[in-house]
Amino acid sequence: MAHLQQIDMPSFPGRPPLSLTCIESSPFAENSYVLARTDRGTCLVFDPGFEPDAIIEVIEQGGLEPQAILLTHGHSDHIAGNAALKAKWPDLPILVGESEAVKLIDPEQNLSRGFGLELVSPPADRTLSDRERFELAGFVFEVHEIPGHSSGHVAFLVWPEEATDGPPMVFAGDILFRGSIGRTDFPDGSFPMLASGIRERLYPLPEASLVLPGHGEPTTIGHERTTNPYVTANDDGPADLN
Ligand SMILES: [Zn+2]
Repeated sequence: MAHLQQIDMPSFPGRPPLSLTCIESSPFAENSYVLARTDRGTCLVFDPGFEPDAIIEVIEQGGLEPQAILLTHGHSDHIAGNAALKAKWPDLPILVGESEAVKLIDPEQNLSRGFGLELVSPPADRTLSDRERFELAGFVFEVHEIPGHSSGHVAFLVWPEEATDGPPMVFAGDILFRGSIGRTDFPDGSFPMLASGIRERLYPLPEASLVLPGHGEPTTIGHERTTNPYVTANDDGPADLN
């Protein structure tokens, strides 16, 4: 059974009413998120996992119109719900980093073959490049490609379009967790790349920036920059985890 959690978001001047629901799905305890502009009745879905029915229920019970699926990366536990959401809302576009799109349609690369699943997703409708900024459904997005867990993994920095001066929400997938980082022992993994990406792209963000990881509890940039044991702010941290 999926576990649902409403995420508290820090308020700051000019921020419109939002809601953020985390749907943690079995069997990999993967976090899918539904981010809604409650003033508009629209929402976005991040990383739909193995329990899409729970995601659909959150959207329908909120009376929300989904606008897009955004994928941090193409591992199977983050894309397994794409087909069900597309079946329900055929026009819902799938957005993913340009170097990661191939994983959606390749069971070897999305790691499902290793579990005997042969899972594929509908293909990407739009691919995103590093540092691209775009507006979608009342939000401003900035894309940061941070390889190391998966070669085309992106983090999404997200602001409501009326409040781009405030700290962003950071949909971090399997880059950065509360007190941990994503594993780097996959064929396209690299601890040095993951560590330098976190240091150069994420740690400089405002300390109040809310981090929504692909597994585990939310955290903040400030908390991880000062306490994360795997990637510290200024030095090389521990030896290569590989
Ligand atoms: Zn992953």
